[in-house]
Amino acid sequence: MAYPAGDPIGGGANPVLANGQVEQELARASRALRTLSAGNRTLLRASDEQELLHNMCRVIVETGGYRCASVAYAEHDEKKSVRWMAAVGTETEFLESLHYSWADTELGANATGSAIRSGKPVVGRNILTEPSYAGPGYAPLRAHAIQHGYAAATAFPLRVEGEVLGALVMAAAEPDAFDVEEVKLLQELADDLAYGIANLRTRAQHRAAQATIARLAYYDALTGLPNRTLLLEGLQEAMQAARQQHHSLALLHLEVGRFHEINKVLGYRAGDELLLTLGRRLAGAVQESETLARVGEAEFALLLPHGGAEYAIGLAQRLVRTLREPVEVAGLTLDARVGIGIALFPGHATDADALIRRANAAMHQTKPVRGGYAMYTGGQEQEHTRELALMGDLHRAIENNELSLYCQPKVEIASRRVCGAEALVRWQHPRHGMISTTEFIRLAEQAGTITPLTNWMLEAAFSQSYAWHEAGLERALAVNLSAHDLYDPGLVDRIRGLFSTWGIAPALIQFELTESALMADPDGALETLTRLKQLDVELLIDDYGTGYSSLSYLQKLPVDGVKIDQSFVMPMVESGNSAVIVCSTIELGHRLGLKVVAEGVDSPAIWARLAGLGCDVAQGYLISMPMPAAQLQGWETHWA
Ligand code: C2E
Ligand code: MG
Ligand code: MG
Repeated sequence: MAYPAGDPIGGGANPVLANGQVEQELARASRALRTLSAGNRTLLRASDEQELLHNMCRVIVETGGYRCASVAYAEHDEKKSVRWMAAVGTETEFLESLHYSWADTELGANATGSAIRSGKPVVGRNILTEPSYAGPGYAPLRAHAIQHGYAAATAFPLRVEGEVLGALVMAAAEPDAFDVEEVKLLQELADDLAYGIANLRTRAQHRAAQATIARLAYYDALTGLPNRTLLLEGLQEAMQAARQQHHSLALLHLEVGRFHEINKVLGYRAGDELLLTLGRRLAGAVQESETLARVGEAEFALLLPHGGAEYAIGLAQRLVRTLREPVEVAGLTLDARVGIGIALFPGHATDADALIRRANAAMHQTKPVRGGYAMYTGGQEQEHTRELALMGDLHRAIENNELSLYCQPKVEIASRRVCGAEALVRWQHPRHGMISTTEFIRLAEQAGTITPLTNWMLEAAFSQSYAWHEAGLERALAVNLSAHDLYDPGLVDRIRGLFSTWGIAPALIQFELTESALMADPDGALETLTRLKQLDVELLIDDYGTGYSSLSYLQKLPVDGVKIDQSFVMPMVESGNSAVIVCSTIELGHRLGLKVVAEGVDSPAIWARLAGLGCDVAQGYLISMPMPAAQLQGWETHWA
């Protein structure tokens, strides 16, 4: 609402007043005081500028009894426009439709504009009768006044420290409102409001300044990424959480190769550009819960609060690929290379500083110049580098089908009948040739990457079993499971799914679990074994004798048999001790209703001794070396 520029207050004379007038003036002064006091309470409570403006208008109308109240801000644009910020008792849309300005022009010839320009209240005591409001330009305002039931209106400047922010505009129902005393009190209200606005703005600036200080302390100025300090804090918190919730986490340390050369040849700006691009790529490749930080000139760190070896390696491989894409810098296409080191909590370190150091050490094992990743290994550099390379290769091997399924027959000693076979994985590496199964199984178990291998093996075993069944050969195939597999929540369902997919009888698939795997977490093992057993499959304890468990403990597990470890079987003819162990295991096993298998049967003498002791099944080189599974049928004709 705005009104013709009337006389600034104090311009008119003050004649002798009649009695009724005195009462009216007192009533006005009292409503102004009421408004002033309610306005002060509003100011004290305010925490947000917009909310303050709205609440002040509301107080003016609801507590003061004025018809409407609104707040306009003076914009410092070319037109010096008036922006309506809040209104109660009227609509900001209407006010905006008047297109007021505070410039000294025709558009600025209104009370609001004049109050802003002059810094003094502009009073219209009777809009409907004063000649200054009679012109056609004020027709919308007069109509608005009649519609909303007001006759007087005043615009008060919002002044703070000599500057006018805008105006507080108020309208009253009765003509001749806003006398000298009322205007004086209400200007105080406007001054308080202006002070409140300025105060809130100062507070907001203060907060922004504090945020900037925090940003400088915790964030890298170039990339905007968290810096080393924030990473360390985040890492400590994440380690605490991992400790409490018993899970692992991973820290990746990344270094851009040849960065100094790039800086030297192309200049610092190009170096910065390269870092920005790589930082953006990295940020795009990680999850929201993961923290990417810039921790050195050309170094980044990535905290994976829920990452085991498998996940960290997978991500490192993806990052190496992503970062290998050429980067456009200073009009040149650069071939950026990044080395990534991985360290895991709790396996490699249990405090934040050590984990950071170890991720860094692992990074130095890679060649950032070539790009690649490495897991921390602690010491035996040479050997571990080969192992790490193998681990990386194993992932690819699974994808590329470099693995193959071998099997080794098992024979019933009493009848010499082939009663099944053990499924054994083989890995023919394209460069290193045949890799020792014991070695890469151990590595995969340590690195936590056994699950994909087990899955590959399960698929292969079911598919082979189906092929034998189609060829009329019903042979139980025993798949080895690792300790880690026992914690895989999807394992049993996956196996159930395979039975459905291939339509194979439960008797044709068996599982071997090493004694040490079962002893690692007896309760967890019992649960998984129980669920596996519900599939009606046969379960065997592998490498029995190496895990120091008692047969009576094993009796509590839903297993069908034990395989005596080859380290007892092979020397049993020469060594009395081994013979005693083999003999007592057979005896006790039978007493507990378990089938007993001997592995490592590599001589007729051993076979004969086992036969004498009543051992049920033999497996070993004497019968056959492990062979490609497809050859089993042919081998059997020869055996028979
Ligand atoms: P295991 O389950 O105890 O398998 C028996 C191992 O003994 C096999 O070694 C086999 O080749 C070897 N062996 C059998 N008879 C004789 C013998 O008369 N003399 C000698 N010296 N050795 C014999 P392999 O195939 O190298 O496997 C080693 C271990 O790797 C296995 O021991 C098993 O624990 C693990 N493994 C093999 N394939 C898998 C798999 O698919 N998954 C898992 N989780 N582990 C596997
Ligand atoms: Mg086995
Ligand atoms: Mg074994």
